[in-house]
Amino acid sequence: MLGFHLTPEQIDLQKKAREFALKELLPVAWHYDAVDDTPLPVLRKAWEAGIMNADLPKEYGGSGLGVLENVLITEELAAACAGLATSIFDNSLGMEPLRLSANAELKRKYFGAIARSFKLICFATSEPTMGSDVSGIRCLARRDGDDYILNGTKYWITNGGLADYMSIFATVDPAKKHAGICAFLVERDWQGVSIGRRIPKLGQRGSNTVGIRLRDVRVPRENVLAPPGEGFVLAMKTFARTRPAIGAFAVGAARSAMEFAIDYAQRRQAFGTRIADFQAIQHKIADMYQKVETARLLVWKAAWEADQGLDPTISASVSKLYATEMALEVANEALQIFAGYGYTRMFPIEKILRDCRLFRIYEGTSEVQRLILSGFALQAYRPVMPPLEDLPVHLEKDPVNREPGAAAWRCRICGYVHYGDEPPEECPYCFFPSSAFKNI
Ligand SMILES: Cc1cc2nc3c(=O)[nH]c(=O)nc-3n(C[C@H](O)[C@H](O)[C@H](O)COP(=O)(O)OP(=O)(O)OC[C@H]3O[C@@H](n4cnc5c(N)ncnc54)[C@H](O)[C@@H]3O)c2cc1C
Repeated sequence: MLGFHLTPEQIDLQKKAREFALKELLPVAWHYDAVDDTPLPVLRKAWEAGIMNADLPKEYGGSGLGVLENVLITEELAAACAGLATSIFDNSLGMEPLRLSANAELKRKYFGAIARSFKLICFATSEPTMGSDVSGIRCLARRDGDDYILNGTKYWITNGGLADYMSIFATVDPAKKHAGICAFLVERDWQGVSIGRRIPKLGQRGSNTVGIRLRDVRVPRENVLAPPGEGFVLAMKTFARTRPAIGAFAVGAARSAMEFAIDYAQRRQAFGTRIADFQAIQHKIADMYQKVETARLLVWKAAWEADQGLDPTISASVSKLYATEMALEVANEALQIFAGYGYTRMFPIEKILRDCRLFRIYEGTSEVQRLILSGFALQAYRPVMPPLEDLPVHLEKDPVNREPGAAAWRCRICGYVHYGDEPPEECPYCFFPSSAFKNI
């Protein structure tokens, strides 16, 4: 059975997130973008409203909602402000390695704390010298008795300047690549953790982005999220479950760009009529609408797969790639409809356009998504069609009414089909010898 309807609970959650976004995020979004700051009280309100940490497991005091519920929430938040949405959702990203880890004691301790009080947790694979290539992590984890000592720098860390806890990925030996990667839950207050200056950005300025330096940070054995050799897979599994939300950010931001553009097109006059009356503008709106709708379906499918316990890796990449590229196109076309006013900071589109630019970069760039998808299509995808070599493209004879016993031979080079007991001595089209023919 296939259904696209949401349950009454999901509709209520969507409504709650929408109301929160309109009441708490939209009014402050442009101000915090302008001053390049993250309003902690707003994040706290999201926590109080149950909008943050929706997927915190029930057994540890959370609401235990699924990836689908989280994408419903994030679409609404990002429709109001992608930067603030990124900061609010970041706890789900930071918590995911813990959710996926086998460390029950660690879950009890930190999920319990995050459920009980307003705590932020960030996620850190990236470093100043690497982002896409997670196997290239340099932050060192040295074994010291039962503990590990961390030394290195994590960079681009969302909420890194605000977070109480950090899911830190490191390596026991950079030369080991994937096999050396491990992960730890680190507390911000531990000795040796220091936070860099807020990184000035093009967009999503409402979200906090910093570097984190780890200098001789002692991590007790209990705080190991993934031992050496298991950290890389943990990071990839995390992304497979969080990428649909990045797609949902993109859907939300694009939806707002489209809505503002429709509103403007119905008011703005040119050549004696509304610009919405021009077919050129109508086609832009049609394209925006179909792109937003298509992206949402892909995001929901990926989220659904994750919630069914299926491996959502490919669907997550498809949805992230499509939705994030779509959002930039939609925001760009929305700005075109606004024309001059769209280019100013007094209208909403220029911020949405700047915010959307990041979607194609974080949690795996578009190029990385294409790498994942081409790898799947070329290696793992099981085709339905027979191999080209075996494909009989019968042009000269009706294959259904062929005389019984008459053989057909296909030239592997040019595709010519020859009928007879033996292949021809040479192909009459490409002149390759009989060895080029395959009996089909
Ligand atoms: C605002 C912001 C917030 C972020 N938040 C976080 C966070 O919370 N936690 C975290 O860990 N990271 C975070 N990141 C980092 C982000 O995930 C990386 O920026 C991203 O993965 C790309 O890495 P990079 O910037 O080092 O680019 P690089 O990996 O150096 O790539 C540079 C270019 O080369 C391309 N490229 C790289 N490898 C290939 C390949 N094999 N084939 C084809 N093209 C390739 C890339 O697509 C890109 O176009 C954030 C980044 C930003 C900007």
